[in-house]
Amino acid sequence: MAPHPETWLRVTPAGLHCVPGGFFIDPVRPVDRAVVTHGHADHARPCHAAVLATAETLAIMRARMGEGQAGLSQQSLAPGEVVSQGGVRVWLRPAGHVLGSAQVCLEWQGSRAVIPGDYKRERDPTCPAFEPQACDVFVTEATFGLPVFRHPPPEAEIGKLLHSLALFPERTHVVGCYALGKSQRVIRLLREAGWDAPIYLHGALMPLCRLYEELGVPLGELRPATVADKAALAGAIVLAPPSAVADRWARRLADPVVAIASGWMRVRQRARLRGVELPLVISDHADWDALNTTIDEVGAPEVWVTHGRDDALVHAMGLRGIRGRALHLVGLGEEDEEVPGESPGESPGESPGESPGDGQGGGPGEGPGAMPDLAADGATAGRPADGSGGAPDEAASPA
Ligand SMILES: [Zn+2]
Ligand SMILES: [Zn+2]
Repeated sequence: MAPHPETWLRVTPAGLHCVPGGFFIDPVRPVDRAVVTHGHADHARPCHAAVLATAETLAIMRARMGEGQAGLSQQSLAPGEVVSQGGVRVWLRPAGHVLGSAQVCLEWQGSRAVIPGDYKRERDPTCPAFEPQACDVFVTEATFGLPVFRHPPPEAEIGKLLHSLALFPERTHVVGCYALGKSQRVIRLLREAGWDAPIYLHGALMPLCRLYEELGVPLGELRPATVADKAALAGAIVLAPPSAVADRWARRLADPVVAIASGWMRVRQRARLRGVELPLVISDHADWDALNTTIDEVGAPEVWVTHGRDDALVHAMGLRGIRGRALHLVGLGEEDEEVPGESPGESPGESPGESPGDGQGGGPGEGPGAMPDLAADGATAGRPADGSGGAPDEAASPA
């Protein structure tokens, strides 16, 4: 009989430890051997001795951390390639989260665990789609693990942005989005929707957009957003880190319409707090339905939840006879929805004296614990088409 994954996959202060393999998955502190699911700062940390990841994730780590910090030795693993480490078979499968994101699949003595890191099931024109892998233990995140979180089709959200541009052709539309993944996805969605004008970027977003293009994701014409060039930006789309859209940098643009692209924009209170006129519910994380569908598809009798809204998800799984276990891993879930200190040496475009990490709107108090106040009024495309809304679930939630 195959050993239970709890006997060979342990939760430690550094993160999830594969004991016979002698490596950690997405460790939060420097270790000898790390397997990294993707390049977001809460998963890909600097200064490991050896890092195993996809070639794209390794390139992203080098771009963000510099050669010296991104692992003394780096080994890339192609899709389908299998390595053996201390008798543990290791392979990677797409996670559909950002370019390079991969599920880490492990097998030891016939027992199989799959650790996808962050993932989503929606189509993303910048990376291959998530591929469900049958396993004995599936290790999921639960960032949006509440029934109220149902992400609308991203194409509809992009449609809202284009509609606003048509209504207000003189106003600059500033869209807050994270540097790794979200920016490139928004750009590709805009191109697919027929927006072929130049798209302007805050300086903090340019390096990773260039890297995406080098890695084979064309983004069309991109230009640095120069506040001094206010006239050219009238009626243009400007992408900037979420922290920059609400500060002086954005206010110097031509009568800006402030948008933020994030799964949290489903929560009206957050949009309001951040002065967001045009919330766009575009998320790179699985929503409630995607979490549950995925769990059913992988068919694991047991699911471990790394972080996020684990209570509701564990409860829902229990009703279906799946054993859920909350791992409460620390240090995860910090990047995607909070603004990282992107490339500290990077000049933030034409925004003198303001670093892209400045004025973070999202402090810890605004974390996943904040009470959802859903943007589910009839005027919002974010409302689920089935009319289930979020309110009933939300009303039942103990805040
Ligand atoms: Zn991530
Ligand atoms: Zn994450």
